[in-house]
Amino acid sequence: MTIMDDRRTETPRIIDCHCHIASEDHTPRSFIEGSVANMVVALSAQGIPVNARKLTTMFLSKMQDPLGDGLVTEMAEGGIRKSVLLIADFTFALKDCKLTIEESFAKHLEVLRRHPDKFEVFGGVDPRWGKDGLALFERSLVEFGFRGFKVYPPCGFSPSDSALFPFYELCAFHHVPVLLHIGPTSPVLDFSISSPFLIDEAARLFPTVNFILAHGAVSFVEECVMLCRFRPNVYLDISGYQATLGYDPAASAVKHIVSLGISHKVLFGTDFPVFRLQGEQKNFVEVLTGKNGALEELNERERAMVLYENAERLIKSAVAVAA
Ligand SMILES: [Zn+2]
Repeated sequence: MTIMDDRRTETPRIIDCHCHIASEDHTPRSFIEGSVANMVVALSAQGIPVNARKLTTMFLSKMQDPLGDGLVTEMAEGGIRKSVLLIADFTFALKDCKLTIEESFAKHLEVLRRHPDKFEVFGGVDPRWGKDGLALFERSLVEFGFRGFKVYPPCGFSPSDSALFPFYELCAFHHVPVLLHIGPTSPVLDFSISSPFLIDEAARLFPTVNFILAHGAVSFVEECVMLCRFRPNVYLDISGYQATLGYDPAASAVKHIVSLGISHKVLFGTDFPVFRLQGEQKNFVEVLTGKNGALEELNERERAMVLYENAERLIKSAVAVAA
């Protein structure tokens, strides 16, 4: 049975390892407006009349799913069994966040409980919040059932900053992975500390913790592949490939990544809801698994690894320990 056949049956198998709740509760307005500024430059250069405020309103209209109900519907249509909801902690770096990071964790717990088996949550805490942040993160693993740690270096710290080591120790103890943002982001944040090599020290110091480089198929690709190949505990997710579909509808970026013999290190991810103006979850799955899709040249085994087995393996070790 092929993955496409799976998609048509009642038992979807795909795991999306990179999603967010679509709500302004967790993504500050300044972050969104920064991202829209890039769209405005690109569209107006092509002679398309755009207006930043209109585009922001359009994007915000797609960000009205605070309980995850819309995402669950899209997952079913796209053959996605489970999605990992990531909490990026912008609350230290950007001062227009609606919720505190503690409130944001609570809202994610609500979504987790509302949709049993549909989600996992990786909580993120800016290490500059100190002991309170560490206590919140520990509570998320022990009491809330969250299964990982999200790190967002462009907020202003290296992923190998020693302030993060107590968090990584907790990840080692609870056998949960770390997913860290790599490459560019909203222009309101710092791109200069988004290189994958910055994780190298932590990956070496914490060999039992698995680190996932987000957007590794489209940002710092060569470096990400090198780390995946030679650091046993480094993985990458392909989310962000949708940004390339406008000029490369065949998703060559993904095709390239999975042609390099590292399929055991590559995880499917979409970064929902970032690309909601470009399409729905089913469209993004189709580009990879459909006829002539980016994963077509893989054998069944490799395709299964990329679409769900690798993510399953990384999350499962946490569940086994918690059980
Ligand atoms: Zn993301």
